[in-house]
Amino acid sequence: MTDVLIVGCGPVGSVCALMLAQAGIDVTVVDRVQEPPMDLRASTIHPPTLEMLDSIGLAEPLIAQGLKAPVYTFRDRATDTTFRLDMAEISDRTRYPFRLQCEQYKLVQAATAELEKLSNVTMIFGAELRSFEQDDARVRATFGSVDGDRIVEARYMIAADGASSLVRQTLGIDFGGFTYPEAYLCYSTMLPLEERISGLSLVNYISDPNEWLVLLRAPSAWRVLLSVDAENDPQEYMSDAFKDAVFRRLLNSDEPVETVHRTIYRIHQRVASRFVEGRICLVGDSAHVNSPIGGYGMNGGIHDAFNLIDKLRAILLDGGPADLLGLYDRQRRGIAHSFVQAQTMDNTRAMKEGWGSRRDSQSAGMADVVADPVKRREALYKQSMFKSLDDEREIA
Ligand SMILES: Cc1cc2nc3c(=O)[nH]c(=O)nc-3n(C[C@H](O)[C@H](O)[C@H](O)COP(=O)(O)OP(=O)(O)OC[C@H]3O[C@@H](n4cnc5c(N)ncnc54)[C@H](O)[C@@H]3O)c2cc1C
Repeated sequence: MTDVLIVGCGPVGSVCALMLAQAGIDVTVVDRVQEPPMDLRASTIHPPTLEMLDSIGLAEPLIAQGLKAPVYTFRDRATDTTFRLDMAEISDRTRYPFRLQCEQYKLVQAATAELEKLSNVTMIFGAELRSFEQDDARVRATFGSVDGDRIVEARYMIAADGASSLVRQTLGIDFGGFTYPEAYLCYSTMLPLEERISGLSLVNYISDPNEWLVLLRAPSAWRVLLSVDAENDPQEYMSDAFKDAVFRRLLNSDEPVETVHRTIYRIHQRVASRFVEGRICLVGDSAHVNSPIGGYGMNGGIHDAFNLIDKLRAILLDGGPADLLGLYDRQRRGIAHSFVQAQTMDNTRAMKEGWGSRRDSQSAGMADVVADPVKRREALYKQSMFKSLDDEREIA
């Protein structure tokens, strides 16, 4: 029997596995894919997440492969007004005063490379969770693979199996929330957009009631994200004609633009009604999903991992009480609602309504923010997720 079984070796599952293994805990991690895919979804790692990753030896390898983006640019396309926030202003709070632009598959590669070196880790790829049961002492899970069924028994199981989590569904845990009526279209292009559009930083949120755009520089390419009507045929959005029209409007030119990657995603705001059921814990996208505006999904999942593994270490190594898992549930589910959902919905709304006029219960419009050093600092704390971690510590 292993100590902890992790279903899913995406960014959150692989980080959980590495934390546990480095603490000397036996871990088995299983994924249905034959090898980790070149998943391009997340491209941003926030400063507190880098601090966490540094504690398990992953920050430096990722920084070496990524781009440091200290400046956020928010632009209102309708009025051509630009607002900038520079993380240099919070360099007294963090040794990483920048967003690291780095594709999520590089994190998984770095974590799995470390896992391969450790003797208390079993990694199984090409095996899909089919069913599981638990009692007072263990979880027993059955995985199907081309070599037949495989059973893994563990003292605890972590569900890091993504948004469609079989674990969450089998446990009958409600995944309440909503799905946006729009789908998000993502292009990657090698065209140096910074040479075609003036005033770009590496991270740009361009609001527009008709066609907002996120322009993010990842190491491999520029990524262009926009929303489209989900009711229409997705093939239309994958067409060259549609792509050409988007870039014509963006660049104000007929210059042909090649894309190296095109994907369309449905976007949801949902949180599981509980993150813990007996010996089974949900983390990452299996527990919560949100709009990508702000780059909080994977980061929030890694924050789950650090919170949960701290508690599992206390239970497994120090004989800590099992109800520590209840604290994990309260803290991370609380933050998923009060911070991640609230902030991503607010950011997403601002993409349509404009950053200059953005108002919510906690934030002033961007013009007020950039004019005031105290508000700038508050905004940077929020956008970089430090505030969510401060708030988490307040939850008992
Ligand atoms: C367009 C877009 C941009 C984004 N940008 C950002 C960003 O910049 N920053 C950010 O923080 N987040 C971002 N996100 C969100 C981020 O991609 C996710 O939050 C992140 O991938 C979640 O990681 P995870 O490990 O929880 O789940 P996943 O990455 O979905 O991994 C789940 C793993 O479980 C495996 N699995 C599933 N079911 C089974 C099964 N039954 N048996 C065995 N294995 C199974 C899968 O194969 C997979 O490897 C973005 C999302 C989108 C759509």
